[in-house]
Amino acid sequence: MASEDSQRIVIAGGGIAGLATWRALKQQGIDSLVVERRPVAADGGLAINLPGNAIAALAQLGLAGEIERLGHPVRKREYRAQDDRLLATIDEDAFWGEAMRPRAVRRSDLMAMLGAGLDASAHRADRSIAAVHQDAAAAHIRLDNGEALSATLLVGADGVRSTVRQAVMATSQTSAARLASASWRFMAPNPGVDGWTLWTGKRGMILLLPVDDATVYGWVALDSPDVAFDDLKHLDQVFRDFPERARKALSWALAHPESLYHSPIEEVRLAQWSEGRVVLVGDAAHATAPVWAEGAALAMEDALVLASIVAGTDEVTTIGRRFEQARQVRVAHVQAATDRLSKAARLPYGLRRLIMPFIVPRSYRATYSALKP
Ligand SMILES: Cc1cc2nc3c(=O)[nH]c(=O)nc-3n(C[C@H](O)[C@H](O)[C@H](O)COP(=O)(O)OP(=O)(O)OC[C@H]3O[C@@H](n4cnc5c(N)ncnc54)[C@H](O)[C@@H]3O)c2cc1C
Repeated sequence: MASEDSQRIVIAGGGIAGLATWRALKQQGIDSLVVERRPVAADGGLAINLPGNAIAALAQLGLAGEIERLGHPVRKREYRAQDDRLLATIDEDAFWGEAMRPRAVRRSDLMAMLGAGLDASAHRADRSIAAVHQDAAAAHIRLDNGEALSATLLVGADGVRSTVRQAVMATSQTSAARLASASWRFMAPNPGVDGWTLWTGKRGMILLLPVDDATVYGWVALDSPDVAFDDLKHLDQVFRDFPERARKALSWALAHPESLYHSPIEEVRLAQWSEGRVVLVGDAAHATAPVWAEGAALAMEDALVLASIVAGTDEVTTIGRRFEQARQVRVAHVQAATDRLSKAARLPYGLRRLIMPFIVPRSYRATYSALKP
């Protein structure tokens, strides 16, 4: 696409997908405008696990050196039972190799790295996209202050509850994930874990992941749809019999309730991610339960693929279809792998405990081998 048109690409949302799209377009010499409803990037998700293909995407975005300085490497995974019995281990170092070594990083650090260099001319922060419609000539965008923008291409990177998706797609509902209905995230002092460590139990699971030498990122998930997000007593009870390290981190978080973030786990499954001059990327197109921690990786890969398609064509209305063709198989692979493991995670605890030593290493290899660049 000729670069004089490039000012007219508008990106809805300055999350991982939006910032990566801005950056990938910039690498192709194409300017764009990011519209983000928040004044500063949100870090309510606290931290994020980046598997090897996310690290590879960051390298393609020109950030190989920067990512190595953030967070903590994730060299191995341990899957444990509620009584601390080790069910499976994965040597992530051996699987991904040094150049794609997974990392756990603070979300705020990741956002700052992706957005470095984004100046006011390319960024409308603290402005929400309120409405979108399109005609043959352009996509028309109305902001919450009444301001109107028009774009030759509108990239909907506005997350799982995307306004852009709702405006342009006939079916746009989110669905509850199969894995679990609710989860909580927190940071706590490291109770003694040295890698990705998941304990799975009768009524819930808890994951601890070091983000630096002293701190772990924690994620607890429950499958009790009726539990109120602030019912901390219930949370405490479900994990009462869990091993000391898991208990210690969770107890710290429960004693500091302001540090606990509740998140529903919602998914978006669509046959089509584009309509005319509008293309959806990241969670807006395909939010998937974080079973394989692929959300950021897929969002950044979307950005790289979209930018190369945009750079290679003058026919804007074909971009969406080409993008779908390039990305749908990979995304469907992650969705299918997510569904398979979510189903296994819902088996009765006794059975799960029995089969996890066999299915975990196999599903890890099957899922990530196909995603290795
Ligand atoms: C509990 C949980 C744990 C997870 N853990 C991991 C993990 O470990 N690893 C991983 O890779 N992924 C993980 N994910 C998934 C990951 O968080 C997402 O896939 C990723 O954040 C998607 O990025 P995005 O930019 O598409 O969407 P978002 O991060 O949601 O960003 C969308 C942006 O758009 C903005 N926006 C929304 N509406 C508007 C509007 N109308 N106008 C302007 N701006 C708007 C929002 O403010 C936001 O900044 C997890 C998800 C959950 C729920």
